[in-house]
Amino acid sequence: MAVDVLSLAVPGVRGIKPYEPGRPIEEIERAYGVADVVKLASNENPLGPGSRALAVMPERLDGLARYPDGNGFALKSKLAEKLSVAPEQLTLGNGSNEILELAARAFVLPEHEVVFSAHAFAVYSLVTQAVGATAVVVPAHDWGHDLEAMASALNERTRLVFIANPNNPTGTWVRRGELKTFLKRVPAHVLVVVDEAYFEYVIEPDYPNAIAWIKRFANLIVTRTFSKVHGLAGLRIGYGVSTPEVADVLNRVREPFNVNTLALAAAEAALGDFAHVTHSVTMNQEGMRQLSKAFMEMGLPYIPSVANFIAVDVRRPGAAVFEALLHEGVIVRPVANYAMSNHLRVTVGLPDENQRFIDALAKMISAP
Ligand SMILES: *Cc1c(COP(=O)(O)O)cnc(C)c1O
Repeated sequence: MAVDVLSLAVPGVRGIKPYEPGRPIEEIERAYGVADVVKLASNENPLGPGSRALAVMPERLDGLARYPDGNGFALKSKLAEKLSVAPEQLTLGNGSNEILELAARAFVLPEHEVVFSAHAFAVYSLVTQAVGATAVVVPAHDWGHDLEAMASALNERTRLVFIANPNNPTGTWVRRGELKTFLKRVPAHVLVVVDEAYFEYVIEPDYPNAIAWIKRFANLIVTRTFSKVHGLAGLRIGYGVSTPEVADVLNRVREPFNVNTLALAAAEAALGDFAHVTHSVTMNQEGMRQLSKAFMEMGLPYIPSVANFIAVDVRRPGAAVFEALLHEGVIVRPVANYAMSNHLRVTVGLPDENQRFIDALAKMISAP
């Protein structure tokens, strides 16, 4: 008799709907017979990696027979200096995604609750389900985190809170005062992950750098990544910043060689590439203006975003517009899985890429 393998999986895992990544360029070219596909679907840096990161990787190829430095000594030293923390406060991850997962695996049991916002990054619910815990999804306020309501949702069963600042896919953000007030209300048995994957893109003066608060709030874990502004999404490297005690716990469930040699080298080089970061941020601001102006002209509401993507309300099922855009060789992200079925999330691309998307969208919107 054949065994139903799914029934053997642990209960939390059985309920998981796998994460749906942005469709790869090659796949769309094959399936739709289009060339010159523009991908604005995964919040990647359209400029690619910086020249410093690119230059250092060939130098490391000879070393690939060896295991990477499992402690990431060189990168942690450089990060520690840049962030004004001790190297013992850092945990390197295979993308910052891995840090989110380590936090759940190390701290959360099935009897615990994990609190996050509606329309928040999909990985929070995945890692919660994977450990069999209960997700407490707090309704959003104007598409953004309602920290008041999130604080009220905390109880003795809560073990972990995820806050995306800014949030993906909405691009909304929480202000310094709001976040600090929230952290003061969090009891000591609750860990708070502040996910700052888009930190470098945000220019609002009232946007908090949560790393500065780790001294005051010992239950805080701040995550950042090299996947977004640094343009290294394919290498998979990110990090968590916490107290040394929390980092020690995360380190116990981390696999020994979770970050590869090329990623370590490229990330270290990227940290010193200020020109690339500045160029990327400036270009993002221009692209954001280009996109929001176009939405305004088309009469499409959008959620104001401080990140490198923007969610637009296409006033009809986003899935259909997504599909039609694929035929035009433009990949964006449908977000029905975030309870945003009339929205599409678009990554800010190069000026020409943005224009390709705008033209294709305008054609669809004006069609009867
Ligand atoms: C992209 C993203 C991440 C993580 O990306 P990694 O490539 O795993 O570092 C984390 N949080 C949010 C909100 C993101 O959008």
